[in-house]
This record gives sequence, structure tokens and C-alpha cells, in this order.
Amino acid sequence: MKIISVNAGSSSLKFRLFDMPQGNVLCEGVYERITQPIGSFKFTIQDQTAKGELALPTHAEAVDDLLARLLSERVVASLSEIQGVGHRVVHGGETFSTSVEITADVLKAIQRVSDLAPLHNPANLMGIESFTNALPQAKQVAVFDTAFHQTMNEEAFMYATPYEWYEQFKVRKYGFHGTSHLFVSQRAAELLGKRPDEVNVIVAHIGNGASLCAVEKGKSVETSMGLTPLAGLPMGTRSGDLDPAIIQYIANKEQRSLDDVINDLNKKSGFIGVSGISSDNRDLEVAAEAGNHRATLAMTLQNKAIADTMAQYIAYMKGVDAICFTAGLGENSPRLRKEVIERLAYFGATINQEANLARGVEMDISGPNSSIKVYLIPTNEEWVIAKDTYQFIS
Ligand code: ADP
Repeated sequence: MKIISVNAGSSSLKFRLFDMPQGNVLCEGVYERITQPIGSFKFTIQDQTAKGELALPTHAEAVDDLLARLLSERVVASLSEIQGVGHRVVHGGETFSTSVEITADVLKAIQRVSDLAPLHNPANLMGIESFTNALPQAKQVAVFDTAFHQTMNEEAFMYATPYEWYEQFKVRKYGFHGTSHLFVSQRAAELLGKRPDEVNVIVAHIGNGASLCAVEKGKSVETSMGLTPLAGLPMGTRSGDLDPAIIQYIANKEQRSLDDVINDLNKKSGFIGVSGISSDNRDLEVAAEAGNHRATLAMTLQNKAIADTMAQYIAYMKGVDAICFTAGLGENSPRLRKEVIERLAYFGATINQEANLARGVEMDISGPNSSIKVYLIPTNEEWVIAKDTYQFIS
């Protein structure tokens, strides 16, 4: 049986096709620049990658091309072999604490929480609609970024704002990247030789978007993102936490709307805002090597926030067995991992400089006497989505 994992963004559609239950990856790829004049695709089958351009006015054309290619490349003999489609859905609000089969009611519930993730949920819904039309026989399952964090206690998820904001508008911390935090924390328990409910782990998912999660005995008890993915750590283009009064201050100074200022915090802050060079960490590492102060500062602000938050989580969980780095930067930046772990020297955490040179592969990068295990664990959200979808079919 084949299951496809789908991550539909506003202008992109990423997918991975699995043979279940073994989980062999049959094919994967991405469609980009959907809705722009010329779109593109990348399609990989066993180390063979095809790339090209094509018109993609909507997500539906990307889905049609993908399914046609699966047939023409003989990845599947018939589309009826694809029995499940697992969709990443960014915001499930308080409604969803696990993955669910998509029904008309579920669609309505996802729509209802869309104003909590206006950039993400509508795109996810477009992906669901396109696949439901193209593969009506397949089971469609929603896997939520927020679900894993629904185990947080009130003291972790409430803001100290008027209580009515929570009652009327559901203003609270939700957290994101839950699928990744779940996968990596479970893998860390395996590497420690224990069950997830026997260990405390901190997961650092650091990509363009970045969040930390405190996983106590297998459950999320704290995380750095909030009501929206703007909160927490400085990221590629997002500011992370700041004094909320800054928003009004800049709106007044520059005679701009609050929406406009929030847009700057989402799109023109973090790495790109501080450095003025790029939102991509690779460009900042090159610029910092060449002596660019603002590039160094942009990365330092992120390192400090990561280490400070980890220290907070170590206290909150009264100790931690492992710290895990994952996602684009977490998996590929020895600089980031070294600088963060060095800031945690007081707790006895150390890093093995040689092992830390690893990129994109699972690795124990702890120093010989480190009081906390430090791991590099490549994330695999697609696999979690496929496994969850499989459960609804089997
Ligand atoms: P997204 O949140 O969009 O999924 P990713 O997880 O792909 O983001 O992470 C993108 C980030 O990872 C970028 O800042 C990029 O520079 C960084 N990155 C990827 N590969 C490397 C590398 N080899 N060295 C340093 N940084 C890297």
C-alpha cells in the first residue's frame, strides 16, 4: 500500500510517497512558485532527479502533474494503489490533539482556526481540496503541527493577558513543529536506550522557522512559539519575542498600520533584518567570516535566545537527558551547535568538536564528559505523517 505525505504552502507543494508499512521512500519532490507566471518542479526517484518548469496557476495543476508523473514514471501502476494522503496542517487550535481523518466537519474546524495561521492553514486546505478531488478513493488525514503541544499545562500555555481574551478568542500559546519535536524526541529516547516516558529531552528545530520544545517523559510541556509562529527565537525573517509596545511605537513613528509593522516582524526581521544581508544562514556564515559585524550579531542573537531558552527548560523539567538539534540549521551548522552548547557550560554540557562537524546525519556529538547527551538527529516529519495516515487505513 502506498501513502503520500503532503506539505502544501502558499506557493509550494512538497510531497513524499512511501511504501507502507515498511516506509521505503518511492519518490519525493517539490512544486514551487505556484500562482506565479512560471512554476517549477523537482521530482526524485531513487537518486534520479528530474527538474523543470511548467505553468502552475493553482495547487490543483501541481497535484495533477504529480499524479501523472507517478504513472508515467511507473512509480505506481494505478492511482488506486495510493490509499492514503497525509496532510500537514499547521494550526489545529485547541480542537485537535491528534491526527484525524478529514471529514466535512474537520474541514470546517480547520477553517475556523485559520485566522490563527492566515499564511498557512488556507494553503493547507488548498492541498487537501486538490488531493481529495484527484484521489477520491484515498483516505485523507490531517496531521497538525500544534497537536503534540496540546499536553502543555495551563501555566505553560496561558498568557498573562485579560482572561476573556482566552475565553472569547482562544488567545494562548499553541506551539508548532510538533511533528518534528515528536519524531526527534522519540528517536532521542531510542538513542538513550530508554522509553520516551523515561527521559527528558530538549529538541531544537532550527530551520528558517525555529522553535524549541521541552519534552518531559514523552510529552511536550513547553515550547517557544506561541499563538502564532512569530513568537520565540529570532529566525530567518521573524523577530521572535520582543516588547509588544515596540509595535505601537514604530506604527506611530512611521505612521504605519499595525498590520504593516507585524508584517515587518514576520518578513523583515531576524537574520535578514539584523544583518541586512540575507535570511539564509549560509550567507551569514560567509559574511561573518569576512568580518561583517551585523551578520555575526544576527546569528549571536539567535544563539543566545536558543541557549537562554534551553536553560529555562532544564530548570522547568528539573534536569534533562539529551539536547537534540534538527532541521536545516540544526542539522547542518556546526557553528550554531558549538556556540549554543558552549553557553550551557554551567550545566556541564560539552560538545565533541570533531563529531560536531557532521552534517545531515544522525550523530552523538556530546563531549566525553558531557552531563547532557547532545545529538544531531535529522528530522522526518513526512514519515510521522505517513505513519499516522497508515493507522487510519490499517
Ligand atoms: P524551513 O523552515 O524553511 O523548512 P530549513 O529547515 O530548510 O527551513 O532550514 C533552512 C536554514 O538552514 C537556512 O538558514 C539555511 O542556511 C540553513 N542551512 C541549510 N544547509 C546548511 C548548511 N550546509 N550550512 C549551514 N546552514 C545551512
